[in-house]
Formats: sequence, structure tokens, C-alpha cells
Amino acid sequence: MKKKNVVVIGAGIVGSCCALRMACEGYSVTLLDNLKPGNGCSFGNAGGISSASIIPMAIPGIWKKVPAWLFDSDGPLSVRWRHLLKVSPWLLRWIMESGEDRSTYSSKALKDLNHDVLNQYKKMLGTVNFNNLIRTTGHLHVFKQKPSSKGDFFVKRIREEAGICFEEFFDRDVNVVEPSLSKEVKYAILINDASYTVSPHRLVNTLVEAFEEMGGNFVQDHAKEVVASEYGVKVITRLSALEADYVVICAGALSKELMKKDLSKVKLENERGYHVNLVSPNFMPNFPIVSGDYKFFSTPMEDGLRLAGTVEISGLRALPDWSRADILLRNAKRIFPDLSASGSEVWFGDRPSFPSSIPLIDVSPVHENIFYAFGHGHYGMSGAPGTAEIIANMIKGKPQKVDISPFSYSKHI
Ligand SMILES: Cc1cc2nc3c(=O)[nH]c(=O)nc-3n(C[C@H](O)[C@H](O)[C@H](O)COP(=O)(O)OP(=O)(O)OC[C@H]3O[C@@H](n4cnc5c(N)ncnc54)[C@H](O)[C@@H]3O)c2cc1C
Repeated sequence: MKKKNVVVIGAGIVGSCCALRMACEGYSVTLLDNLKPGNGCSFGNAGGISSASIIPMAIPGIWKKVPAWLFDSDGPLSVRWRHLLKVSPWLLRWIMESGEDRSTYSSKALKDLNHDVLNQYKKMLGTVNFNNLIRTTGHLHVFKQKPSSKGDFFVKRIREEAGICFEEFFDRDVNVVEPSLSKEVKYAILINDASYTVSPHRLVNTLVEAFEEMGGNFVQDHAKEVVASEYGVKVITRLSALEADYVVICAGALSKELMKKDLSKVKLENERGYHVNLVSPNFMPNFPIVSGDYKFFSTPMEDGLRLAGTVEISGLRALPDWSRADILLRNAKRIFPDLSASGSEVWFGDRPSFPSSIPLIDVSPVHENIFYAFGHGHYGMSGAPGTAEIIANMIKGKPQKVDISPFSYSKHI
């Protein structure tokens, strides 16, 4: 019997996991990207991979911090004012999502999606590649102040209820855990259940290699349109047209642009982030250090110390503002006063984000052979394997292991 074929659009972390999973399920799969694999948002992120990635960005009381962030030129959030009107429905929805009930709901969905991420990567990569790419060290979240806000207590409660394993450190004990930290850091949480990859780019490429070894086919081409056809669906690309039984849209922040007619109502926005890779730093922390005040990671990558994070609401077309990368370096020096390095590289990426922090993983309401898997926001590295499992079960008509209603199209408009 002829194998059914699947076209996956987008070779970031989500598309590469979906493509490999579908190839393992016995489908004939083409993975399509206008770039080489792993060169979108998945290229330069902070590499955090964690079943503990269950805290949505919109949490109780967070909106009160927004004005101070916006007026602080070194703050973790910036908005391009020209884009403000266009993005205001998204921002309003984000504020609504920060209510206690909504954010509890979102954290439950993230827990369901990310709970088995390490085992899933181990299965997809094999033990040798897994050990080569992923470190199960934990993450250290650091703060200048001890927990005092509604949001701080909400996060603690959510972690406790979810059974996340963490330890707290106060005052000078913080330096026992990480001696390079400034004395200004008064409080730290070591999340033991958290891991990271030493190279997000190599992780995606290793998944794509595994996919090709399973008989999958990577094609570098730009998808212009996805239309219904006699056989199922047709992807019209710049160079050709690909007939498919099923198409999975994993085009990250560009998914809405690709499917503009069908997705005009979904509340997808790009949350731009930056990184500075310090090629030869004078020290490397033992695990990723996450600044709760400045909202960025310092991750010990295989090619240097990566400072990555912050949010810029800019729209997709805006040119990068490299002063946002300088801010990362300035703030890193506030946390690590002795930090110095020779050589650095800068990068920006557009996180595909919904106000709830929950990705859209569903069949299209317009066409039963088109599936959506995008919008993983700050947690795509953690959510990609779980997404691939949900998509595979949807296409095969198998029962799901988790409640998939939070990921549905109707929850994202
Ligand atoms: C600074 C920063 C730090 C981050 N840190 C973390 C972290 O520590 N942990 C974590 O889990 N997440 C993190 N993230 C978020 C994470 O990077 C994203 O959630 C994830 O990369 C999204 O993956 P994706 O596959 O959906 O998108 P992408 O990686 O952007 O992939 C989409 C692909 O689709 C392709 N494409 C788009 N349109 C078309 C088209 N028409 N035709 C063909 N191809 C197309 C693009 O070229 C791209 O390769 C961070 C993000 C940033 C910016």
C-alpha cells in the first residue's frame, strides 16, 4: 500500500520534531523551509528545556510592572510605538490572561504539553546524541529581592502544586550556589527539574538528520500558499507544488502570514528577543542562570556564554534594534560584576506568541487535512516534542494522552 504523505512547513524545533515523529509513524514526509533547518527563532534561543516550563508570561499582577519596564531604557520590555495600535488587542488579551484563573488554566496546559519532554527527546535523539546535546543540570533563577508580589506567590504555588522540585536560597547562601553572582542578588531558586541544550541549532539539525535517516526529505523552498486539491492539499512553493495527504503548519511567527485567509482571527504576535554570545568569557556558570529582574538567561553553551531574552513588541517587519543586545550585556554585568569576554556575536529572533502562552495545535477549521502547530512563545524548545505527539495522534486518529482543548483553534481567536 502506498504510504500517505505529509508536508511539514517550517524546519524549526517544532517542525523538525513533527516531521521526525510522522516519519517514525510510517508516513512519507517532506520538511520544507525557505532557510536551512534551525535558522528561525530556534537558532539563537537560550536553550532552556524543561518539564518545569509551566509558568505563562501573563501572571497575576504582572501588568502593574509594565509601565516601569517601559520607561526604563534598560528594562526587559520595549514596544515600538508605531506598532502599538496594531498590537493593542493582543496586549489587552494578555492582561486578561493574567487573571488568577486564566493563568492557572494556562499553566495546567503547559504542564500537560511539557511534562515528558526529556524522555521524548531521548527517544527521538537516542542516548548518545541526547547526552551530547542536553544537560540535566537545573536552572538557577536569581532576584534582587525576596518574593513579595502577588505574582511571586502565584508562581511558587503553581510550582508546588505541580510537584516541581526546587530549592530556595537567601542572602549570602546564593553565592555558595554560584560564586560569580553579585552581592545584590538576595534570593535564588534552583529548579532541579530543568535542563538545557548546549546548542539549539545543532539540536534541530540532529533531529533533521534523524528524520532524513528515517527516509524523510528536507526541501529548501518557500511555501507561498496552501490550497485544497483533488488529492488532499497542495503546497504551492516558489519553485514547485507539493501534493500531500496532510500538511502541518509549523512556520513559527510567520504562520499567520502564510495562512492569512484561514488565520486572520488568531491572536498571534511576534515577541522579539535578542542574544549576545560571549565567545571567550572569563567564567562559565555551571547551569543556566535566569535573571528574574532583567528577564534573560545566561546559558553555558558549547560556543560561549549566551545572554538571551527580553521582549520587544515590534511587528515582524521592523529592523532589529541592536541596542537591545547591548542592554543584555549591561544587565549581565550587574548580575556578574566580574564578567569580561573577548569576542561576541549578536542575534535576534521572533517568538511566535499567543497572549496565554499556549500554542495552537489543532486541525484547521476550514480544511480537515491541514494541521496547525505554532505559537510556542517562550517555551518552544520544551513544547515541541509534546506538540509532535499531539499532531501524530490527530493525524492517525489515535486518542490523546492529555486534554488538548486548551490548544484548540477556538481558544486562540
Ligand atoms: C531570545 C530568545 C530566547 C528564548 N529562549 C528559550 C528557551 O530557553 N527555551 C525555550 O523553550 N524557548 C525559548 N525561546 C523560544 C523558542 O526559541 C521558540 O518558541 C521556538 O524557537 C519556536 O520554534 P518554531 O519551530 O515554532 O519556530 P521557528 O524556529 O521560527 O521555525 C519556523 C520556521 O518556519 C520557516 N518558515 C516560515 N514561513 C515559511 C514559509 N512560508 N515557507 C517555508 N518556511 C517558512 C522559517 O524559516 C523557520 O525556520 C526563546 C526565544 C528567544 C527569541
